[in-house]
Amino acid sequence: MRLHEYQSKEVFASNNIPIPRGRLASTPEEAKLIAEELNGPVVLKAQVLVGGRGKAGGVRLVNSPEEAEEEAAKILGNRVKDIPVRCLLVEEAVHIQQEIYFGMTMDRENSEIVMIASAEGGVDIEEIARLSPEKIIRIPVNPLLGLRDFQARVLATDIEIPRSLWRSFITICQKIYTVYQQLDTTLIEINPLVITDEHRLMALDAKIIIDDNALFRHPDMVDKRDTSAEAPEEIEARKFGLAYIKLDGNIGCLVNGAGLAMATMDIIQQQGGRPANFLDIGGGANAEKVAAALRIILADPQVDTVLINIFGGITRCDEVANGIQQTLQTIETEVPFVIRLVGTNETEGRQILADADLPTADTLQEAAAMAVARAKALVA
Ligand code: GDP
Ligand code: MN
Repeated sequence: MRLHEYQSKEVFASNNIPIPRGRLASTPEEAKLIAEELNGPVVLKAQVLVGGRGKAGGVRLVNSPEEAEEEAAKILGNRVKDIPVRCLLVEEAVHIQQEIYFGMTMDRENSEIVMIASAEGGVDIEEIARLSPEKIIRIPVNPLLGLRDFQARVLATDIEIPRSLWRSFITICQKIYTVYQQLDTTLIEINPLVITDEHRLMALDAKIIIDDNALFRHPDMVDKRDTSAEAPEEIEARKFGLAYIKLDGNIGCLVNGAGLAMATMDIIQQQGGRPANFLDIGGGANAEKVAAALRIILADPQVDTVLINIFGGITRCDEVANGIQQTLQTIETEVPFVIRLVGTNETEGRQILADADLPTADTLQEAAAMAVARAKALVA
């Protein structure tokens, strides 16, 4: 779950990480009022969940409250990178001496947290990463040892932060590390972290991504989610507790258990097919969940055939079969199905499917082969 800039900055503020003064506005009048309060030039920043707002016209520097109102009217209700802008962060404009990139994220390959920084932060960081990757410094942090001050000092040296700011830089690194751990984030990014004219470090931008799987530990964060830029099927899947990821193949998959879902996708690939999605309905799934999952899969126009692979444990095969059969009575679809049910109440489940004239397979291999053959027959 990605937080908005203003939400990320709230997290920063409550952890004493320095940010500019400012507030959220949802109308041009409010923007004007905040600009009056701040009493000086302000920056208007569209709160949309995309990067590169600056280059897309979503960040504007203005000199007076009147101008703030005028510009806010232009941005609000408009789109930045195709996302409608509902609110703006109005902040005091900061005089920048240098823009630094600072990030903390997961290094999956090495099972470590990694701190990333560059002396040349700002809107061109992607360019720099591509053209001069040596300007991007990475320092791994062992999660058992935690972030040691010397590591932040090495980073400060490498990106040539003036010595007088080392203490303050190290403090910011440590605070970011604390937030990273406590909030179960997978990414915290400050781009730019600036050195101001008054020779202070300040986070001008902020991006936090929280691990969805850890959200249950942060109930206060859950309702901060902004779904306006999310795909409707992902919102629907979350509502029913389904893990759904859209892929680019044409065989829709409905499976219980993440491991089984992976194995199912592997076998489809092995048989020469391509999965249209990853979908784990989870353990103990009932007819209602199965129905929601089927609706999501069938709503994808790329899906030519559906492979259902259920291993009944706590999940009962007859319950799943009922869910499939009932849903197919309510949805008009030409898409062929292949279903494999094994485990708890498998005989009852198969009987329900047989009564509804739905094809079943005995093994996963066989089910995958049938699904691939059907998808190919449709393509041909
Ligand atoms: P992004 O493009 O979505 O990453 O939005 P940012 O918040 O990073 O802003 C983009 C750029 O706008 C920054 O890299 C700065 O160069 C500039 N900017 C943002 N806030 C200020 C400010 O207060 N003063 C000045 N002078 N520039 C700013
Ligand atoms: Mn930025």
